[in-house]
Amino acid sequence: MPVNVLFSARAGLWENYEDPLLTALNEIGVNVNLSRNIPPCDVDYVVFAPNGPVSDFTPYTRTKAVLGLWAGVESITGNTTLTQPLARMVDPGMTEGMAEWVAGHVLRHHLGMDVDICRADTGWQPHIAPLARDRQVGVMGLGALGSACAKTLAGLNFDVLGWSRSAKDIAGVETFSGPAGLDEILRRSEILVLLLPLTDATGNILNARTLGLLPGGAIVINPGRGPLIDDAALLEALKTGQIAHATLDVFRTEPLPPEHPFWAQKNVTVTPHIASETRPISASKMIAENIRRGEMGEPFLHLVDRKAGY
Ligand code: NDP
Repeated sequence: MPVNVLFSARAGLWENYEDPLLTALNEIGVNVNLSRNIPPCDVDYVVFAPNGPVSDFTPYTRTKAVLGLWAGVESITGNTTLTQPLARMVDPGMTEGMAEWVAGHVLRHHLGMDVDICRADTGWQPHIAPLARDRQVGVMGLGALGSACAKTLAGLNFDVLGWSRSAKDIAGVETFSGPAGLDEILRRSEILVLLLPLTDATGNILNARTLGLLPGGAIVINPGRGPLIDDAALLEALKTGQIAHATLDVFRTEPLPPEHPFWAQKNVTVTPHIASETRPISASKMIAENIRRGEMGEPFLHLVDRKAGY
């Protein structure tokens, strides 16, 4: 009997995922019926993205797990019909992409690349950046993505500080945890990278108080989630110079509405939620591994803790 796997994501993703998923499931030895149309009562696994056709999981009575294509799960954790185990996406391709994006934007600000690019109107203005070893970079969130970014930055010689809910030990990274560690990492982060999930505990974590703890002229880089930051407090800090620049990939409303003041603020860089994408080939291997585990009765990887919200 084949394993029935329902693919439920927005139109267009099926074309990207059908072949990689079939290949990965075949390679791992799962006999599969992969389709976008399977009666709910026959579905063994749902490969899921929040913008697809399934939002009521009540009829999926025999479904062993819902396997997310997204790393962020804040739009799913509140779905009370979803009582099946929920695994989020931890994709080596996405992790690699995020480390590259974060390193690129940290280096832009660290080196002062915008200042260094000579233009006819600004002229020849040499300035020497400090070495990375003399630059303190904080990474808030040390999960799959944050820890990879922290390691990459440490590999570039930055003085890296990291913060998470539970204590962590990462070579080359000075780590802090819990509420007690928050103020210290903020006080020392000249460049701050946000890679926290959005939960009840992390919304507005960067607010007037916490922005005020950062060293004057700090840089904020947010590829995490828009609501991690109180927009009004950030705009105020950008105007006073407490924050010299913010590079923002994620927003409360996406696409960022044309009237949002971030567009007009000169020391804000907006990128369109592209910091890192799930890569179909590597992500399909993760999905296939979880289906194999489900079939063998082994624990699923990357299960979401509904109480913690991530
Ligand atoms: P993980 O769940 O692996 O890691 C989350 C990290 O945040 C963990 O270190 C966790 O601590 C920490 N954390 C959670 N809550 C708190 C808290 N209250 N206080 C302190 N630390 C906390 O997530 P990922 O690394 O995979 O992804 C992080 C986020 O990145 C996603 O949730 C998503 O929002 C965003 N993202 C953005 C993308 C983009 O293109 N812009 C692409 C993909 C993801 P602990 O280790 O103790 O559990």
